[in-house]
Amino acid sequence: MPSLRRGMLALAETKRIERFITQNGVSKGFALRFVAGETLDEAIAVTSELNAAGLSATLDLLGENVTSEEDARAATEAYCEILDRIAASGVNSNISIKLTMLGLDISDELARCNTATVVERARAHGNFVRIDMESSAYTQRTLDIAYDLHAAYPGTVGIVLQSYLYRTDRDVRDAIERGIRVRLVKGAYAESDMVAYPSKKEVDAAYRRQMEALLEGGNYPAFATHDEKMIAAAKEYARRHGIGPERFEFQMLYGIRRDLQLRLVREGYNVRVYVPYGTQWYPYLTRRLAERPANLLFVIRNLLKG
Ligand SMILES: Cc1cc2nc3c(=O)[nH]c(=O)nc-3n(C[C@H](O)[C@H](O)[C@H](O)COP(=O)(O)OP(=O)(O)OC[C@H]3O[C@@H](n4cnc5c(N)ncnc54)[C@H](O)[C@@H]3O)c2cc1C
Repeated sequence: MPSLRRGMLALAETKRIERFITQNGVSKGFALRFVAGETLDEAIAVTSELNAAGLSATLDLLGENVTSEEDARAATEAYCEILDRIAASGVNSNISIKLTMLGLDISDELARCNTATVVERARAHGNFVRIDMESSAYTQRTLDIAYDLHAAYPGTVGIVLQSYLYRTDRDVRDAIERGIRVRLVKGAYAESDMVAYPSKKEVDAAYRRQMEALLEGGNYPAFATHDEKMIAAAKEYARRHGIGPERFEFQMLYGIRRDLQLRLVREGYNVRVYVPYGTQWYPYLTRRLAERPANLLFVIRNLLKG
């Protein structure tokens, strides 16, 4: 992994830098390119604009690594409220959650119990919960909880698998066997070469391989990438194997490659936009900066101007 990217990802975990950046108005302005606002009202308004353009959404209340049971319960209630608001407003959106926001750093049992509460509410509304994947320290525990909930509430919960991890070919096979919905991503965290492919070439090769396996046998897989080569490969594989566009979807992040999102919609593909909102945008934003150094230069230029 290039050292600039590793450095940026280390910053994501530095509280002192977080305080400096989040209190700076210029950075906040920049964050709003990637974050749909700080309140649920703003996020619902953005979602309805996306829907009007033919895009569906997945809403993410920003926050991760909570350290108190009280905060984990508050996040659980907040997610239930989001599901209620989605139903009441009629927008086309599901939700994406992070288990460390629901208490995974405190105990597996707490996270399982809070996640079950959210999944149960989603089921009551006929909606769906995607469990985001965090760093490799959490992979197995996240999958264990997701698989338990998938067995209890089939069709209501889905997982994310990261192509950069060596283990993912096996996890893709397992997920296909279980019939759980998978979002395939390249992976956004700083991982050692003990667990993850160090080069982009290897990650891209794994992504293609796993994408083909999911197109072949997966349950409505989601290919979450802005990489036009991967998107072209998915389209081509589906076309050659007679897999219709209704059997999978593409996903992209809010604020990134809007042109490509709309082009895919025009071509008849399902496209879902990941819409993060809330006040705790710093770790999310630093991961986006690490993915594209040009974004970092933009921030530095604006900080110097400000
Ligand atoms: C909907 C969605 C959900 C995700 N959920 C997770 C998750 O749960 N866990 C996880 O680890 N990761 C998640 N990710 C992030 C993912 O792992 C990658 O870090 C991210 O998508 C960048 O990789 P890429 O596939 O777009 O390809 P890359 O090879 O990194 O980039 C391809 C091209 O896309 C463009 N691009 C990529 N990133 C950016 C950016 N930040 N700003 C501007 N342009 C960019 C650039 O033009 C680049 O050349 C998610 C991504 C998406 C789209």
